[in-house]
Amino acid sequence: MGSADPTSICADPDVLAAAVSRLLDPLVGRIDRDGQYPGQALQELGGLGVYRHHLATQRPDGRRDVAGAIDAMTAIGRSCGSSAFMAWCQNACAWYVEQGRSQSLHATLLPQLASGEVLGGTGMSNPMKYFAAIESLALEGQAVAGGFRVSGRLPWVSNLGPGHVFGTAFKSAGQGAAAGGTGGRDVMALIRCDWPGLTLSTVPPFLAMDGTGTYSLTFDKVFVPDDHILADPIGPWLKRIRNGFVLMQLGIGAGIVASCIDLMRESNLRLGHVNGFLEDGPDQMEDELGSLRDRAGLLARDVLDDSDRQFAQVLTARLMASELTLRATQSAMLHTGAAGYSLSSPAQRRLREGYFVAIVTPAIKHLRKEIDRLMTAGAR
Ligand SMILES: Cc1cc2nc3c(=O)[nH]c(=O)nc-3n(C[C@H](O)[C@H](O)[C@H](O)COP(=O)(O)OP(=O)(O)OC[C@H]3O[C@@H](n4cnc5c(N)ncnc54)[C@H](O)[C@@H]3O)c2cc1C
Repeated sequence: MGSADPTSICADPDVLAAAVSRLLDPLVGRIDRDGQYPGQALQELGGLGVYRHHLATQRPDGRRDVAGAIDAMTAIGRSCGSSAFMAWCQNACAWYVEQGRSQSLHATLLPQLASGEVLGGTGMSNPMKYFAAIESLALEGQAVAGGFRVSGRLPWVSNLGPGHVFGTAFKSAGQGAAAGGTGGRDVMALIRCDWPGLTLSTVPPFLAMDGTGTYSLTFDKVFVPDDHILADPIGPWLKRIRNGFVLMQLGIGAGIVASCIDLMRESNLRLGHVNGFLEDGPDQMEDELGSLRDRAGLLARDVLDDSDRQFAQVLTARLMASELTLRATQSAMLHTGAAGYSLSSPAQRRLREGYFVAIVTPAIKHLRKEIDRLMTAGAR
């Protein structure tokens, strides 16, 4: 498919909801149970502008609407948590390119990501954990003429396939450092799945999310040209993009919570007389989801605020989203009972998708560690 009409910014909520039920509702079982990757549906959603909300440079009005991006992912996640996660992968990848220094990627790739013509992901779990002092950086790049040769392994990167791209970071070492050149720094780059030396291997089945185009990646001296470097050094750039990265993930959780509310309400039509004795019922969850959405809306306005204080608030909202998702998915199971326990039921799928929200980087343990560090350092 070609690029979307750049004058159509984003589909309105009703159009998006209709597109989600047409494109994803019939596929969701196959995505969840058979690991089917819904590439075409993701591209069609891109044609409606769902990946464009947060990209000021890709909108004729020049606005940046991170809250709109979260709402669009919520609409997708209401049908399918895997697809909402992949929409986030796409949004994050485009976010890196928009905020990155490469003019050529800005001119060529960014419009393709914004429209969904090219699909992309983000190999940033390892770097995010590295910057939170949880693990060391997995990729290393040797500075060479015209770019870097990058080697190492990333265990899981999603929304990938032939022709896809993703952003990740590596430690620049060796020759550059020794020569007093560009070495010894952490560098952010845009990688193309088709580059020589990069191997995508399938991974053993997960509890859920198998339809997310998730691969284990091995880099064997992959040449990354200078025009694919997004930030060198990564430090100040990471502070600029981190709020958007984390905040947009709220859309994945919010979509799952919204669908759990639907499931609880549906179940209450028949079983309200007994479901009323359960905690975390639909009205309570709806209130908390609304508060979280309001909080996200406020934080989204200052998405480029690179202070630790702002980041601590974004991490707190993300933690609330994980905790709310766990509670809502558990409550949907308890409301729906044996019907929800059936393998064909959406309630059990939501439970499995919900755990992903809590363990994908930043996982709950990572969030609590990082919030503790920032609070201790005085970022209130
Ligand atoms: C379905 C799915 C999709 C994901 N998609 C992405 C993505 O698109 N981009 C991305 O960057 N990350 C992705 N991840 C990784 C994810 O964000 C987390 O980083 C990952 O789940 C590890 O987090 P943790 O808190 O368990 O790590 P920790 O407990 O802090 O540490 C575990 C670390 O040990 C290593 N490790 C543990 N188990 C294994 C294993 N079986 N094989 C190899 N190494 C292992 C890894 O380095 C891992 O980071 C995905 C994970 C899953 C399950």
